[in-house]
Amino acid sequence: MPSGMIEIDLELCKDCQLCISVCPHKLIEPSERLNQKGYRFAQFTEKNMKKEGKKCSGCSLCAIVCPEIAIEVYRG
Ligand code: SF4
Ligand code: SF4
Repeated sequence: MPSGMIEIDLELCKDCQLCISVCPHKLIEPSERLNQKGYRFAQFTEKNMKKEGKKCSGCSLCAIVCPEIAIEVYRG
């Protein structure tokens, strides 16, 4: 299975949660914290999910739906 990782620019995020809804492995969730504009930014949770064997495939769905172009995808 292909592997990847993402980086989310928290200051660009506007909490629309589209990336959260499309990730097939449920690897993105809202943060407990706010960015400088007051949005609860999305965060990549793969480190927390490793136990359950959930791994980013680098499918780019999250980056494609993000209206703020806040997500960068890296493929391994
Ligand atoms: S690239 Fe795909 S698997 Fe990885 S976080 Fe984005 S939607 Fe999820
Ligand atoms: S799709 Fe983009 S703007 Fe929307 S929650 Fe995800 S990172 Fe933030």
